[in-house]
Amino acid sequence: MRKKIVVLTGAGISAESGIPTFRDADGLWEGHDVMEVATPQGWAKNPELVLKFYNQRRKAASQVEPNDGHRALVELEREFDVVVVTQNIDNLHEKAGSSNIVHLHGSIFQSRSSVEESLVYDMDGWELKLGDLCEKGSQLRPNVVWFGEMVPMMEVAQRETAQADLFMVVGTSLQVYPAAGLLYEVSAGVPIYIIDPSIPEYNPQPNITAIAEPASTGVPKLAKQLLDFS
Ligand code: NAD
Repeated sequence: MRKKIVVLTGAGISAESGIPTFRDADGLWEGHDVMEVATPQGWAKNPELVLKFYNQRRKAASQVEPNDGHRALVELEREFDVVVVTQNIDNLHEKAGSSNIVHLHGSIFQSRSSVEESLVYDMDGWELKLGDLCEKGSQLRPNVVWFGEMVPMMEVAQRETAQADLFMVVGTSLQVYPAAGLLYEVSAGVPIYIIDPSIPEYNPQPNITAIAEPASTGVPKLAKQLLDFS
């Protein structure tokens, strides 16, 4: 049976494609306080600002390409059953060709009803405006999980993580929960690799190997080793 590799990715894997990460030194996301643009409270207070913020993110994300980090995860599918659990709301894993992707925090390329979570729509263009309504007549919002909201895909991610024969963490500060908690749901003894140029803090475990490299070189090197020894 093919071994299962589960990969938790964060903003860092898309950094070299030209999408800035979330936690810059000033603690802002592209110059904005996250409370203003990525919380239900921010949405209630100023939906126009929130829509504008995500419109800019969507426009920028649609103009970039995956990098060798995303691509190496696709290569691994030759020999392994690979599940990518991503915190990213961009579509670079899809563009690279990964076939099994769990979007923990949703996707900016989808909109959804602001009253009924299950009404989700693929977007055609890059712009969502005030007055764009769902079929029930309520304002559309980006289909992303904001701080303080439930993470509906968490159960799927936990199930996959518990079944992993190898777990990788790429480009995440491990500060956003519950996603970061997946690291501690890996079965005992399963090897874990963390790839990040500045390794985030984690509870030390003997099965964790930290690789202080950017995703575009660190992931292909590890993928090659795994493929060579499979
Ligand atoms: P984060 O910004 O908190 O952490 C980014 C991590 O990436 C850091 O540990 C940093 O050292 C690392 N990093 C920087 N450059 C790297 C590189 N070249 N290769 C590998 N790692 C690199 O990101 P997070 O932990 O994903 O949490 C941010 C939240 O914000 C997520 O929930 C996500 O939904 C959202 N977000 C998404 C995107 C995106 O979709 N691309 C971008 C920004 C923020």
